Amino acid sequence: MSATIIDGKGLAQHMREALKNRVASFPNPPGLAVIIVGDNPASQVYVSNKEKACVAAGIHSEVIALPGETSELDLLDRIEKLNADPKIDGILVQLPLPKHLNSRRVLDSILPEKDVDGFHPSNVGALFLGNPGLQPCTPHGVMKMLEHENVEIRGKHAVIVGASNIVGKPMAVMLLHAGATVTICNSKTPDLGHHTRDADILVVAVGRPNIVTGDMVKEGAVVIDVGMNRLENGKLAGDVEFESAKMKAAKITPVPGGVGPMTIAMLLENTVEAAARKREEAV
Ligand code: NAP
Repeated sequence: MSATIIDGKGLAQHMREALKNRVASFPNPPGLAVIIVGDNPASQVYVSNKEKACVAAGIHSEVIALPGETSELDLLDRIEKLNADPKIDGILVQLPLPKHLNSRRVLDSILPEKDVDGFHPSNVGALFLGNPGLQPCTPHGVMKMLEHENVEIRGKHAVIVGASNIVGKPMAVMLLHAGATVTICNSKTPDLGHHTRDADILVVAVGRPNIVTGDMVKEGAVVIDVGMNRLENGKLAGDVEFESAKMKAAKITPVPGGVGPMTIAMLLENTVEAAARKREEAV
């Protein structure tokens, strides 16, 4: 039987509408600043999509486009100004940065309460400990999708393929907190299929098309494809071989239209949440 297709696009749209109403209740609109360094075409598309989404939700948006040769000192100075800017509740630095810039130092310079990507060590630590903080948008969006789809997580075996700081590792922690038994696979994992075939919930975030094929999916699994790969024909593809995997899975996300739109919705939500917390503290 063919899987139910999880409509990330529809859920994200629904969440963005709800956020718009919440934003309208603020005396001043929440503000998001996005910094982009250099002219990476994919990054430019992501930044432009984030800006459009902000505008549609009524969030004040500032895009700071800096030349590729910007020095780290100049970039840190920009971030410091945004940290102090009362109109700005969220700051996002679009990755990847040019090689001469130290991404870790740059991300660490963002105030944790404005770190809407959830990459600052304070927010990473809060997530690890189960304390309140801003959570990374992509895995947080996946959790929202699982919740919306009424997927039982407690007691289930979740297998995550990919162990990056922005997707795989925080995904593992979130699923662990939700009661799953978690396996994380990386590039050194021998016999990947041995692990994926045992997954009740399978999250794939590698960046390689078709790394997971239908024969690597357990009958009745929930498959979440985080991968976003631009194929030679210009089309966007995930990491999972969709046609074969959907014949095994109970539920599966498409690419595009699955995790991607949820990531943007969660970025907006984090920005509004950061603004709400700031206002609560001011009262
Ligand atoms: P990344 O930083 O390159 O990490 C890739 C991970 O995959 C690493 O942990 C790597 O292992 C692991 N890996 C590589 N080859 C593997 C293999 N053969 N078997 C098992 N694991 C393997 O990538 P990322 O930033 O997490 O992104 C992953 C994908 O998700 C990309 O396609 C990206 O575009 C997409 N993405 C989508 C969204 C969205 O909103 N939809 C958001 C973020 C990322 P090692 O740790 O051993 O190197």
